Amino acid sequence: MLKLGDKEVYSIVENSFKIDGGTMFGVVPKVIWERLMVPDERNMITLDLNLLLVKSNGKNILIDTGMGNTLNEKQRKMYGVEKKSNLEKGLSDIGLTTEEIDFVILSHLHFDHAGGIVGLNSRGEKVPRFPETKYIIQSEEWKYALQPDERTKATYSVENFRALEELGEINLVSGEKEIVPGIKVKLTGGHTKGQQIVFIQGGGDTIVYPSDIIPTVSHLRVPYVAGVDIFPLEVMEVKRKLVNDCLENNWMIAFDHEIDPKLCRLEKKDDKIEVRKVPI
Ligand SMILES: [Zn+2]
Repeated sequence: MLKLGDKEVYSIVENSFKIDGGTMFGVVPKVIWERLMVPDERNMITLDLNLLLVKSNGKNILIDTGMGNTLNEKQRKMYGVEKKSNLEKGLSDIGLTTEEIDFVILSHLHFDHAGGIVGLNSRGEKVPRFPETKYIIQSEEWKYALQPDERTKATYSVENFRALEELGEINLVSGEKEIVPGIKVKLTGGHTKGQQIVFIQGGGDTIVYPSDIIPTVSHLRVPYVAGVDIFPLEVMEVKRKLVNDCLENNWMIAFDHEIDPKLCRLEKKDDKIEVRKVPI
């Protein structure tokens, strides 16, 4: 846990999964990226699913939900998912249950970020996993996720969104918005049409959760952009600005897919960016 003024920020690893290394590094040749993240015999690299839970003024805010437990066997195999979702355990370690989450901020609606919005009831039907929650989603993302195209179809679970639409409280936002004092979302686009990043501020310090704009330490380099990004040039522009802002203002970055570190500050040394791990 890290204190940010009156806020408490916790890191939860919801699960881990595997993804094709080339998918994560786009135009970067394998001879270069395999030195940063070592692939297995299927060319897959392992990523964590990192969520943030913030306690602020009696409110509990969860940022992203991870994959949840509703992937089918084929999907679990494809993504090398061996464990069950750690979300309930992660929350109970902090003294919370899924009923006590006031806001769920979804950076975007890909299955590895939003799959956990639904759970299964005793009849095996999909139901919202956080019954008392307001879901914060960019309206662009919601629109797009309900009508994915051929290229993005596999990463959006339309069925989950329908379940949420029926039973959950969805708060669509457009652009920039403060959710509770000191926690703000900002639309960036890039990775998806409605990708948003999250800022947590308190005690004169700032954490930014850039989600898939900068998923791991290796993606701090501007041209290291994933093959799945819909608008790669936008990702590069947003990233360039974000990295500069972090350097200038000493902001911390919380990575959504990095194994270690989960949180860091950046330093520039002889034109190279170095990371300084922040314990959380
Ligand atoms: Zn994504």
